[in-house]
Amino acid sequence: MDRKKFVHTLAVLPIIPTAMKLDALNKMIKPLKSTDKMPVLFLGHGSPMNAIEENEFVRGFRKVAGEITQPNAILCISAHWETNGTFVTAMEKPRTIHDFGGFPQALFDVQYPAPGSPELAEETKATIQKATVGLDHNWGLDHGAWSVIKHLYPEADVPVIQMSLDYNQPPQYHYELAKELASLREKGVLIIGSGNMVHNLRKVAWDKLNSSGYGYDWAIEASEKMKDFIRNDNHQPLINYKSQGTAFQFSIPTPEHFLPLLYVLALKEKNENTELFNDKAVAGSLTMTSVKIERI
Ligand code: ZN
Repeated sequence: MDRKKFVHTLAVLPIIPTAMKLDALNKMIKPLKSTDKMPVLFLGHGSPMNAIEENEFVRGFRKVAGEITQPNAILCISAHWETNGTFVTAMEKPRTIHDFGGFPQALFDVQYPAPGSPELAEETKATIQKATVGLDHNWGLDHGAWSVIKHLYPEADVPVIQMSLDYNQPPQYHYELAKELASLREKGVLIIGSGNMVHNLRKVAWDKLNSSGYGYDWAIEASEKMKDFIRNDNHQPLINYKSQGTAFQFSIPTPEHFLPLLYVLALKEKNENTELFNDKAVAGSLTMTSVKIERI
């Protein structure tokens, strides 16, 4: 129902008190108030253990949160939610999903009870024209989301929704879809892509899991090229990552950890600055390199 029709409907319902009418109208039309344009973040999440460890990466997440106005809500595109079509979580209380195995009980004990935001889910669905966005009531917050967001907002007082990655679609599609999220940035929505630019679990150097700074030659080569493309706003080679040679093929064996980066880069505008942080390789075949995009 559009605004005109809705107002008309309210007008012909005289038994509803005016205050309630206005409240209903506001809720329907402007669920999130306008704000200055929020930054956009890509966060390299790495091992789920980062959720409970104290290390340089979680300090990096905390520092960045300290530089940002507290958002009205978060929309997170996580590497760990791939679906047939595009969905947003629309429940009031998303559950904490422990979508991993072989980790200590302490990690399974973590709960991140941030509320959901059915309003933001509806608004995201209404904003996106490129896809029919489904409202999901089953997912919740996977570790791609909560393992990093808990460091940004440890009080779990910012509502969080997730948007899924449609596994049928090519990188260019994701990049274009992301551009449609731009208006949410002016409603206090912090858009976070959570993945890893270089992510090859088959080649992890398990003996070097705890030594940050260690990357295989191909991981460093791909990482340096990626950062050059990012700094120069040269996004097309990143969208076409499959054509960038062997180092990229090793670094991005599957798309899901890389695609959240494309969502974030797609939202960069001309008058904005890109800052890299947590820029380190770990365990040979992962990079934690993260990106903050914000107005100069
Ligand atoms: Zn992951």
